[in-house]
Amino acid sequence: MHPHLDRILWTDDQISHRVSELAAQIVHDFPQPSSPPVFIGVATGAFIFLADLVRKIDLPFTVDLVRAQSYGSGTVSNGAPSISSDLKVEVNGQHVILVEDIVDTGHTLSRLISHLKLKGASSVSVCTLLDKPARRKVNVQLVGEGKFYRGFECPDYFVVGYGMDFDELYRNLPYIGVLKPEHYS
Ligand code: 5GP
Ligand code: MG
Ligand code: MG
Repeated sequence: MHPHLDRILWTDDQISHRVSELAAQIVHDFPQPSSPPVFIGVATGAFIFLADLVRKIDLPFTVDLVRAQSYGSGTVSNGAPSISSDLKVEVNGQHVILVEDIVDTGHTLSRLISHLKLKGASSVSVCTLLDKPARRKVNVQLVGEGKFYRGFECPDYFVVGYGMDFDELYRNLPYIGVLKPEHYS
């Protein structure tokens, strides 16, 4: 275990197993050949989850990334995320699956969902690896027949690894763990 961590919450094996289950659920819900979904990862945190998830899904879908910024280098969302890098793929009339590392206050997802709705997505689903419901400030309103997929419920700790950072570090850890408070205060 990395010395800056207090403990590991999910090992790489546990994550991989759960990602396979989420992929199977998505395949079940978006059967070929009806309109394939567009997977949109929220950069940077979702990049590893997105890569693992899409490699387990055998559908003719498209993939893109979007970037929303709210967190400077701190650990608390400022509540007003802005979209700092927009999509390239067309989402008008498409089924979109937003892929996130973790839903915390819900501000980031809510902002992105309204953005996709304005762009004419016919449904917006969310696939988040972690969900921290204890800290939710805004409800995540899906669009159309959108579904909410989540890997694990996360206890109220600041976690890093498997794409998630503190100050851009720790993203490469293959597992997810709790950062010792002395490393983010
Ligand atoms: P929200 O807008 O829902 O509060 O969260 C926005 C973003 O904050 C998440 O997508 C994620 O990138 C980051 N975030 C929230 N909680 C954590 C956490 O425990 N650890 C890390 N590394 N990032 C988090
Ligand atoms: Mg994120
Ligand atoms: Mg971050």
